[in-house]
Amino acid sequence: MDIRAIREQFPVLDQEVNGHPLVYLDSSATSQKPISVIEAVDHYYRTTNSNVHRGVHTLGSRATDLYEGAREKARRFINAKSTSEIIFNRGTTTGLNIVAQSYGLANVNEGDEIVITPMEHHSNIIPWQQVAKKKGATLKYIPLQEDGTITLEDVRNTVTNQTKIVAIAHVSNVLGTINPVKEIAKIAHENGAVIVVDGAQSAPHMKIDVQDLDCDFYAFSGHKMCAPTGIGVLYGKEDLLNAMEPVEFGGEMIDFVEKYDSTWKELPWKFEGGTPIIAGAIGLGAAIDFIEEIGLDEIAAHEEHIANYAYDALSNIDGLTIYGPRKRASLVTFNLDEVHPHDVSTVLDTEGIAIRAGHHCAQVLMKELQVSATARASMYLYNTVEEVDRLVEGLLKTKEYFGNVSF
Ligand code: PLP
Repeated sequence: MDIRAIREQFPVLDQEVNGHPLVYLDSSATSQKPISVIEAVDHYYRTTNSNVHRGVHTLGSRATDLYEGAREKARRFINAKSTSEIIFNRGTTTGLNIVAQSYGLANVNEGDEIVITPMEHHSNIIPWQQVAKKKGATLKYIPLQEDGTITLEDVRNTVTNQTKIVAIAHVSNVLGTINPVKEIAKIAHENGAVIVVDGAQSAPHMKIDVQDLDCDFYAFSGHKMCAPTGIGVLYGKEDLLNAMEPVEFGGEMIDFVEKYDSTWKELPWKFEGGTPIIAGAIGLGAAIDFIEEIGLDEIAAHEEHIANYAYDALSNIDGLTIYGPRKRASLVTFNLDEVHPHDVSTVLDTEGIAIRAGHHCAQVLMKELQVSATARASMYLYNTVEEVDRLVEGLLKTKEYFGNVSF
């Protein structure tokens, strides 16, 4: 992988911040965008902008072709059987909420169980809390091991024939843990439950095959994989989606509307009420082209290398605690003794290094880790080991700075 050529595709990376070349290590929050994606959106607005599905005019049918073409790219990207199974929406949060509000409320009843883990992002906790509260169901947690993983034995002990939904992150946005979703799907199915996979941190980084994983639902966000903000995908198995009610009602999603009742369009449009996210979907299509041109196996190999390098380099810093297992996705979450992560992030910013500090939308996990916040450096296809070296230097400076400050 020619990292220099890749970096040249990302104009935002070519700048100084606070007098230093920018080191962007916050891609788990949102990734940067390559020129091809920026240009695809720009070109659409300059030449084609029009509403989809309704117009009989030329621009309208061009826009529709581009929008539906992006759906086909998304289908291929995760190897779904059909474009009927690809629902465009705002992102992972929206996708998970659609499943909770539609499938969850219709299929979870009093006394049933919903199973999640303590490492979930708030987007994969709160929708299930809401379903559990409304339906009198129990929310159960698969216990977390000391190293930030879960065991299949614990999954088997937690999932029962009362379980209706197992909802789990493919990759933890804090620990970097890669969960064995294929095996968990099998356990869920053996117990008559469906599995909902939060793919926000996996789709950008590894080859996803929803048929091989045999997941029932899989949600991901475009903005974490080089696409614009405001576009995401919810995959669902066609028979499940067909049996589900829409959650948003209005234009675009209807077949016939009469005074007192209405009927819905077929999949996937019945879940896409209102004018869709046309430019976003086109941007996502361009992002998929960009990623596939490099190759997900190449990207995964590069990220594995850089994650290992970062883990080893940060492990060598005295007084630094890393959270999560050794085998991980390309992010490192850590704390420096005696220094608040917000202060770590502020000092690093003066060196032009962008990391994230806070609870990372994972307050349940923060409690398990017995911390209020952590710092996180997250890498993507454009990051280099030299940038990790800059992070290490910055952290050593941070230590020195706070070592000299008396409280
Ligand atoms: N799930 C995980 C694991 C995440 O990391 C994120 C975002 O950080 C989300 C869900 C929510 O994604 P979005 O804000 O794009 O809806």
